[in-house]
Amino acid sequence: MLLDHQVALITGASRGIGRAIALRFASEGADIAFIDLKEDEQMLATLSDIRALGVRAKAYVADASEFLTAHNIVSEVINDFGRIDILVNNAGITRDTLLLRMSEQQWDQVLTVNLKSAFNFSHAVAPQMLRQRYGNIISLSSVVGEHGNAGQTNYAASKAGIIGLTKSIAKELGGKGIRVNAIAPGFILTDMTKALGEDRLREIEKTIPLRRGGEVEEVAKVALFLASDLASYVTGQVISCCGGMNS
Ligand code: NAD
Repeated sequence: MLLDHQVALITGASRGIGRAIALRFASEGADIAFIDLKEDEQMLATLSDIRALGVRAKAYVADASEFLTAHNIVSEVINDFGRIDILVNNAGITRDTLLLRMSEQQWDQVLTVNLKSAFNFSHAVAPQMLRQRYGNIISLSSVVGEHGNAGQTNYAASKAGIIGLTKSIAKELGGKGIRVNAIAPGFILTDMTKALGEDRLREIEKTIPLRRGGEVEEVAKVALFLASDLASYVTGQVISCCGGMNS
């Protein structure tokens, strides 16, 4: 299996893309630690679905945007699992509105959850990955981080920030056996995008070269590629998974 004996830590994995990545990694033999905001039915279902694949799994309740919390969680995960080979910075939110209507709070919330969380966890796992002389950091950016989108100034800025963070950490840690990459999904069918409503979904689908929204499993396959030895010479890259939306 592609991820045998590896330990993956994934933020925001109770549902959506994070959950799909957790299940995909587990199906390739990785033990899974994941965090999300609350212990609810989604968290418990994801935990039991991962364990059903025969690997070790533990869920941690935490807000990824809190710096000290991120460090405490990483220490707990190292105590529980012994190492961290893969970090997936997945936790993210939207607070969409046009620039002139955007409040300071909407800007701060999105930047803090989407960008600062990725800094928090990358900063917290780096010492352990350096000790191991092995590690793999994957962060969720977005096509709108590369191209912008009306009504998503805060979100697009946070996802562009993920690209800068990824490319910089890749340069700092590449010599120590640590690869760092980002995935830029396009329009993926999750709670985040379903909130737009059926009519808007149909309109957006018409603009996508593959004429459909992506499935979470399709993003998880890209994450698996980046996390595995198949991508052993890939670092500092942003891999699009968008049905051609960025072309
Ligand atoms: P989602 O809303 O379905 O799931 C996000 C998960 O993150 C939820 O379980 C949520 O509780 C958790 N989360 C939110 N804030 C958190 C915090 N502060 N701490 C811990 N957990 C937190 O979203 P999704 O569509 O699965 O998106 C996952 C990632 O992919 C996000 O970073 C998103 O920006 C990115 N992305 C999604 C799409 C898409 O079309 N769905 C496109 C591009 C990028």
